[in-house]
Amino acid sequence: MAIKEEIAAFASEFGDIRRDIHAHPETAFEEFRTADIVADKLTGLGLKIHRGLAKTGVVGTLSVGNSNRAIGLRADMDALDIHEENTFDHVSTIDGKMHACGHDGHTAMLLCAARYLSETRNFNGNVHFIFQPAEENVAGGRVMVEDGLFELFPVEAIYGMHNLPGMPVGQFGMQAGPAMASADMFTIEISGKGSHGAHPHQGIDPIVTGAEIVMAFQRIVARTINPIDTAVVSVTQFHAGRAMNVIPETAVIKGTCRALKREVQDQVEARMEQIVQGVCAAHGLSYSIEYDRRYPVLVNTSEETSKAAQAAIAVAGEDNVNTSLPPTMGSEDFAWMLQDNPGCYIRVGNGEGEDGGCVVHNPNYDFNDDAIVFGASYWATLVEQEFGTG
Ligand SMILES: [Zn+2]
Ligand SMILES: [Zn+2]
Repeated sequence: MAIKEEIAAFASEFGDIRRDIHAHPETAFEEFRTADIVADKLTGLGLKIHRGLAKTGVVGTLSVGNSNRAIGLRADMDALDIHEENTFDHVSTIDGKMHACGHDGHTAMLLCAARYLSETRNFNGNVHFIFQPAEENVAGGRVMVEDGLFELFPVEAIYGMHNLPGMPVGQFGMQAGPAMASADMFTIEISGKGSHGAHPHQGIDPIVTGAEIVMAFQRIVARTINPIDTAVVSVTQFHAGRAMNVIPETAVIKGTCRALKREVQDQVEARMEQIVQGVCAAHGLSYSIEYDRRYPVLVNTSEETSKAAQAAIAVAGEDNVNTSLPPTMGSEDFAWMLQDNPGCYIRVGNGEGEDGGCVVHNPNYDFNDDAIVFGASYWATLVEQEFGTG
């Protein structure tokens, strides 16, 4: 096993940066202070900086030698709207905002790798260090792509990394193929006819019809999706009515659908519309459906996954790299970057127990600084392996 000694020697500097970012969390498209820290650091290391993609995005380019080849390494910078419950010194100073997903750590690890690579320059090629805003909820990665990320910085492959609580520090995990699910959000409004609660025959009840729709949705996965495939349909909101003795005019049903294949995603959406249409027609209601495909399936390409595994094994040793990590039904906007390019998204262990095992999005979560040396060594090894000069 071979973490980079140079990185181990200066990793604490990036632990300090990580805790500073942790104490000053910024959410979607408002990562101004964080982006300044990133840009200043990269400029100090001699990288060429581009700012402003997706508002607060930063891309630093390190070019060594004469090769035209380029790869992208991506970290996310945003925090969440969560009130932090931790009591340590670097606790969030901003009420209601917190780095509860470890993006402070992702930013620090990539900066740490940039320092190593800019000082050692032991490769021939171009590395684009991509720091993106707004990974949570609003797909800042998609906005960066739409703003021209890969036209400005064409890459032959793109790589991402996320911490994984519960996995010991010093371990990595990845998988070829679908790794994280698509995330679609739906809003269905059904309209009947309001009436007195005592005279239901004079109205058209959207609550009973809505309940029927919710129940029928349970059959989408259970009865229409091939059991070998994976999908989730979750109704998470049902709003109707204000008074105890009034049958309301309308009901609103909201929720999310997940899948690990594009075809399954298509099938779920189509079935949903058929059910709403059919049930509403049976009872004489009108309806509207907003179906928002927010995050696509995140698919790791096989060749790049092998390269990622090889780099992780070089850092952590074969016993500490799980190359067939099970996929999850969570989602990631890195999927948008992988739609345009081959690449791989991997997991780095955040530790077990109290120090690193607390789940992400929990008010007591914290990124584990001991992981920095491993994550940064992985990035550095990946670049040297890909563009190595021997
Ligand atoms: Zn998150
Ligand atoms: Zn995250």
